[in-house]
Amino acid sequence: MTEHFTGSFTQQEPIPEAGIEAALAVLRHGRLHRYNTAPDELSETALLEQEFAAYVGAQYCLAVASGGYAMATALRAVGVKAGDKVLSNAFTLAPVPGAIAAVGGVPVFVGVTECLTIDLDDLEAKLDQAHVLLLSHMRGHICDMDRLMAMCDAAGVTVIEDCAHTMGAAWNGVPSGRHGAVGCYSCQTYKHVNSGEGGFLVTDDPYVAAKSVMLSGSYMLFERHLAAPPKEAFDEIKYTTPNISGRMDNLRAAILRPQVADLATQCARWNERYRTIEAGLRDTPGLTVIERPEQETIVGSSIQFLLLDWAASAVRDVVARCGARGVELKWFGAPEPVAFTSKYDSWRYAPSTPMAASDRVLAGIVDMRVPLTFSTEDCALIARIIRGEVSAVYQATA
Ligand SMILES: *Cc1c(COP(=O)(O)O)cnc(C)c1O
Repeated sequence: MTEHFTGSFTQQEPIPEAGIEAALAVLRHGRLHRYNTAPDELSETALLEQEFAAYVGAQYCLAVASGGYAMATALRAVGVKAGDKVLSNAFTLAPVPGAIAAVGGVPVFVGVTECLTIDLDDLEAKLDQAHVLLLSHMRGHICDMDRLMAMCDAAGVTVIEDCAHTMGAAWNGVPSGRHGAVGCYSCQTYKHVNSGEGGFLVTDDPYVAAKSVMLSGSYMLFERHLAAPPKEAFDEIKYTTPNISGRMDNLRAAILRPQVADLATQCARWNERYRTIEAGLRDTPGLTVIERPEQETIVGSSIQFLLLDWAASAVRDVVARCGARGVELKWFGAPEPVAFTSKYDSWRYAPSTPMAASDRVLAGIVDMRVPLTFSTEDCALIARIIRGEVSAVYQATA
């Protein structure tokens, strides 16, 4: 009998009851704007920032309207201006080069290795081209952060981390987002906490934090924050920093607070599912499992494997055959961007020259979401289906 999977790859878990209750309370009192508080009331947004700062061990945290907004704000706060070059990953999602474009910056794309992390040799060769690196931990893969930070520190390059896929992850025990000057996170439905839209920015730098708070649209109400620097940090910049409105609101914050409190449990559940699929895919002829370094604490909310040096038609076959059995795979090598898959040469507003070694990797990347609504039995079934179809296509083309 041919096995089929019937679950939905886009169905996340419901918002926890505590989040629903807190959201209803906000709806009932009506004070949704973060600075609209009753006397002595601490807003949900300010409390959320305090809790997230504590979670990652940061001095300062700002909650904003989206992950993309957090990145653009971080770029502005560290001083990126129109026309400046910004180093970033060739393999990432569109909001990353988009954030650079939003501030008038010009991305300088750095290649991707077979580990799906930024190519540190390529980065080293390009470090003299920019003062800032917007580093994307794409699909949760974390590069050797010790080497990366040593290189960037020596070259005077400021690192901003895009942790949209690494909230809850770590390198050598240091939370993702805490290696560089600024860490940016997303609270969009498909990430590790879900408020529909939303984002965080964390930093230990009081200047960057104060700038970011002003940029996000605090007006002169920055003293109502609980995870922002003291008011002296705002003395100068409050006159010189434009309000580029992008605040978080109390409804989203109310939904998020119980999820932040629960992150460690959720991350462990993701990893159970990830390791089940990984084990099921191991030793499939023609398929390369991405080995995770022991310094990496992962959050397996999606899984990738490589069909390295396969003909495009064979990869398409695998995707189609798995799709017919209910397993939704995405292929980053497709010549046309589809859904959320695109790559450096799809972003034609940004200049790039072909990168042969990266193109070879990108052509082989197959990606799958792992929502928590899947059981570990579901994950074992999914792995059997992928294994069967990859083997069948591989044998037919060998
Ligand atoms: C989702 C995502 C972002 C941005 O998040 P939004 O909240 O959707 O703006 C940034 N980087 C990566 C890699 C993402 O997947």
